[in-house]
Amino acid sequence: MKKKSIRNLQSEIWPQERDVIESPHRLQYVRKVIKPRGCVFCAASRNPDHPSSLVLLKSRTMLVVLNKYPYNNGHLLILPRKHGGDFETMTDKNLIAMQLLTKHSLKILKKVYKPHGFNTGMNLGKVAGAGIPDHLHYHIIPRWGGDTNFFPLIAQTKLVVETTEQSYNLLKPHFEKLEKRNVV
Ligand SMILES: [Zn+2]
Repeated sequence: MKKKSIRNLQSEIWPQERDVIESPHRLQYVRKVIKPRGCVFCAASRNPDHPSSLVLLKSRTMLVVLNKYPYNNGHLLILPRKHGGDFETMTDKNLIAMQLLTKHSLKILKKVYKPHGFNTGMNLGKVAGAGIPDHLHYHIIPRWGGDTNFFPLIAQTKLVVETTEQSYNLLKPHFEKLEKRNVV
């Protein structure tokens, strides 16, 4: 692979955010997500060994990826490497792999972050809240007492204590061990 800076590769994989002035006459600053070319999950799947892909574990068919825009620290995504947004077309093998990876991810997150609970699940379709509706992904979101929507309501922003880089460095060794066990 041609040597690229982390910044370049990251901008190829993940959508980039920009602070822009939406209505200059009102000086209203808005954070906009610049639409990436192509599918971010497929791009991550093509470069799974690069830290910028945020891939924590890869198997032949599945990935565990850190969410670039987490709702909380340790927000993970489990997804098939094959592009597609229809849950019904997932193979039984991948469905089982997704659940096995969920089990093991919960174990690792409990150990690393000691959360009080989790939200897990999928948003199917844009209308249901899927940010990337064309490529299936299963969310695992650690929860702590008092982390609810108080901050977004008052400040229109989320309080995430860690950077994704810090989360990646914390979680990667645990998922490397899991990857070597070939559980999926
Ligand atoms: Zn894709």
